[in-house]
Amino acid sequence: MSTESLRIVWVYPDLLSTYGDRGNALILARRARQRGMPVEVLEVRSDQRLPATADIYLIGGGEDGPQALGAQRLIADGGLHRAVAQGSVVFGVCAGYQLLGNSFFAKGTRYAGLELLDITSDRGESRAVGELAGDVDGRLGLPPLSGFENHGGRTHLGPGVAPLARVTAGVGNDGATEGAWRGKLLGTYSHGPALARNPALADLLLRWATGVHQLPPVDDTWPERLRAERRAAVAAARG
Ligand code: GLN
Repeated sequence: MSTESLRIVWVYPDLLSTYGDRGNALILARRARQRGMPVEVLEVRSDQRLPATADIYLIGGGEDGPQALGAQRLIADGGLHRAVAQGSVVFGVCAGYQLLGNSFFAKGTRYAGLELLDITSDRGESRAVGELAGDVDGRLGLPPLSGFENHGGRTHLGPGVAPLARVTAGVGNDGATEGAWRGKLLGTYSHGPALARNPALADLLLRWATGVHQLPPVDDTWPERLRAERRAAVAAARG
């Protein structure tokens, strides 16, 4: 950790918070505090400078216009690039995932991304909306991903990243893979409640940020109920 407390930055809540993305900051903070770690959550709006010294940066989902504006401001600010160079953790969701890449489409125009992840997003022929599930890259040691997606873009992965998961329900990047990761940067199409539905993913981000490999267990009764309910919903939809 860079300071005495774990510093979590919620990036541009005024632009990138379509699906209650604040929940991811709340969940990370709670799971850290349950392990006795002091936590500071900073909400940095798009008209403010982004501090480059935080441990975890959360970038949420957004509609096309705010997504394009958010990417332009993050590129101009440069703080996220400095933070990544210093080893910070970045978690991007949907629009926040796409804008970490080389480029993405918004309102029919291609925009430059931050080039932090080797991914490129194009327009899809239809919107991908609904349950998203997948088997996570074995190196990450996580149970299956459980999520909800709503995006028009399709994402192609370059050689510099690995897919987060192989899709078992929904679309994700392209119907075959979902999300991407490299080092301590991770992006997913799983929306706002991503960490509520994936507590092990929240703990992975905490382990990356703190360097603590064995986090004490916490009571995951409620997230496990939610995961079971969503698994049943996916199975029922399959018939
Ligand atoms: N605008 C992007 C897309 O539709 C991201 C949408 C989102 O974050 N929900 O692909």
